[in-house]
Amino acid sequence: MAGTGIYLDYAATTPLRAEVLEAMLPYFCQHYGNPSSIHAWGHQAHAAIEQARQSVAAILECEAEEVIFTSGGTEGDNLALKGIAWAQRSRGRHIITSQIEHHAVLHTCQALEQQGFEVTYLPVDSEGLVSPEALEQAIRNDTILISIMYANNEIGTIEPLSQISQLAHARAIPFHTDAVQAGGLLDLRVDVLGVDALTLSAHKFYGPKGLGVLYLRRSTPFQTQQHGGGQEDGRRSGTHNVPGIVGLAAALELAYRKAPAERARLTNLRDTFIDGILTRIPQVRLNGARTRRLPNNVHVAFAGLTSIGLVEMLDTYGIGASAGSACSAGSTQPSHVLQALNLPAAYLHGALRLTLGAETTSADIETTLEVLPECVSYLRRLAPQPD
Ligand code: PLP
Repeated sequence: MAGTGIYLDYAATTPLRAEVLEAMLPYFCQHYGNPSSIHAWGHQAHAAIEQARQSVAAILECEAEEVIFTSGGTEGDNLALKGIAWAQRSRGRHIITSQIEHHAVLHTCQALEQQGFEVTYLPVDSEGLVSPEALEQAIRNDTILISIMYANNEIGTIEPLSQISQLAHARAIPFHTDAVQAGGLLDLRVDVLGVDALTLSAHKFYGPKGLGVLYLRRSTPFQTQQHGGGQEDGRRSGTHNVPGIVGLAAALELAYRKAPAERARLTNLRDTFIDGILTRIPQVRLNGARTRRLPNNVHVAFAGLTSIGLVEMLDTYGIGASAGSACSAGSTQPSHVLQALNLPAAYLHGALRLTLGAETTSADIETTLEVLPECVSYLRRLAPQPD
C-alpha cells in the first residue's frame, strides 16, 4: 500500500490490499463471463461468485443464500430498510432508529416517512449510546423494524446490539444493523449479534469501492426494491460485478485473519493517541465512549477553532484527517451526531476525527502529536476573541 504523508482517515475509506487486487484481476479480462450465462464462461463467473458468497457466509456464520451482494453501504441500508418495511406494511408502519445513524439510514427513514411510515429517532447519551430502556419504551404494537448501527462512523461508539436484539426478538420485530464501520474489525457473527439484517461495505475493509453485502436472515420479511433480471434470488437484480465480489470476499477473509492482532495493535495506538491529545492540548474533549469504541477511532473537539481550518492545516503538514464523517465534510454545520451528543457550544464547531488503519505506525501518531498542538494554538490565536 502506497501513499505519501500520514493518512488518518480510514473511516472514510481504505486502500485496496495488493492481495485483493491480485484476486480480482483475472475476472476483468480473462474470466469475463456473465454469471447468469449457461456456458463455460458463465459457469466460471458463477462459481467465483458462489465461492465468494460461501466465504462471506463463513465469517458471518450464516447460510450462503442469506448473503446478498450490493453496491455498498448506502444500497445495503436502503435495501434493508425499504425491503423490510414494505414487506410488512399491512402489519404495521412504525420503525425505530437512532438520531446518530449514517445518512444512508436517516434519509431512507425520512423517505419512508413521506410514504406513510412513522419513525422514532431515539436520542443517545453523552457517549453516543442508545439506551435499551428507551428503545423498549418506544416499541409499539405496530413496530415492524428496528435499525440501530453497530458502531458510529464519526465518534466510534459501539452500540449494545445484543441487548437491542433481545428486545426486538421478544416482540418478533426484525432488527437491522448498519455494520459498515465495524466490518473488518469487530465480530460479525450474526447469531452472536442477534441481527436479522446487516449491512457491510467493502471499501471500509481494504476491498473495492462500490461493493457491499446485505445479510438477510432467511425468515426476515423482505420485498424486492430493484426489479430486473432476478439476480440474487430476485432480491437484488442487476448483472453481478464479478471482480468486485471476488475482491470483497478476499478482503473480508484477509481482514478477519488479521482482526485479532489488528484490533489489539490499533487499540494500543488509539489509546496512546487519545491520551497524548488530552494531555498535550488544553480545552479539548474526547467524543464517544472511552472503551466501547472502535479500535481505530479517535474523535476529539477543540474549543475556539473550526474543524475545517484544522483539517486544512493538518493537510499542509501531510496529515489526512476529517472534520467529521466524509459525507458531511465541507459542511460548516456541526454534524447531526455531534448535535445529538449535546456538546457544550464552544466545542461544537471544532471536531476532529482521526481514524487509524493497516499502515498506521506509532511514529505516525508521534508525528501527529507533535504537529497537532501547534496547529491548534495557531488557529486559536487567529480566531476572533470574545469581547
Ligand atoms: N453507513 C456507515 C456507518 C458509513 O460509515 C458509510 C460510509 O461512510 C455508509 C453507511 C455508506 O457506505 P458506502 O460508502 O459503501 O455507500
